[in-house]
This record gives sequence, C-alpha cells and structure tokens, in this order.
Amino acid sequence: MPKVDFIKENISRCLCGECPVQVKSKCAHDLYEKAKKIEGMPAPEQVPGMYCSSGKATCTDLDAVQQCFCPGCLVWADYGLSSNHYCIRGSAEKKG
Ligand code: SF4
Ligand code: SF4
Repeated sequence: MPKVDFIKENISRCLCGECPVQVKSKCAHDLYEKAKKIEGMPAPEQVPGMYCSSGKATCTDLDAVQQCFCPGCLVWADYGLSSNHYCIRGSAEKKG
C-alpha cells in the first residue's frame, strides 16, 4: 500500500479543506486557523487534512456521508491511491 509523505508540497495540494465532509466542521475550522500561525513544519495532528498520510481525523464532527474530494487531488494521483475518506477509514498505507 502506498505511503504518502507528510511534506509541505503535499499539504499545499491537499483538498481536505474544501471537502464537504469537513467543510462544516468547527473542529477542523479551528485547527486550520491555528495551523496558519505555525512557523515551519506542523505536526500531523495540527493539520486538519493529509489524512491519506496521517490517518483518521482527530475531529469527531465530520460528515462522513458527504463526497470525498481525494480522487480529484494531485497527491492521490501521484501516489497511485485508490481509496477515499481517509479521515474516517485511516491512512492510504492501510486502505490503499
Ligand atoms: S480524506 Fe477525503 S473525505 Fe476526508 S476530508 Fe479529505 S477529501 Fe474529505
Ligand atoms: S488524497 Fe485526500 S487526504 Fe490525501 S492530500 Fe489529497 S485530499 Fe488530502
């Protein structure tokens, strides 16, 4: 299974921030606001995205029935991923 690198280039390409699954999540919104102020590389738990790399979301107010944007993401294409909803299901290393 592909292991996605937790690097700045991938963070900036991640579409989780606009995804309907977490667009209404107050928890994710608050994490994004905090993450903007971090200088240098944030820790995975500080980024409400990149779930294909870091695994399940720590926020519990995600709307899992909504459509996942991962299949439209360049990270997803580059790493040859085949699954979705990593925020709910876990990382691509485990789910593909
Ligand atoms: S992993 Fe998929 S479903 Fe979850 S927030 Fe990211 S784009 Fe949305
Ligand atoms: S594949 Fe999904 S979780 Fe991974 S970087 Fe892209 S949008 Fe984010």
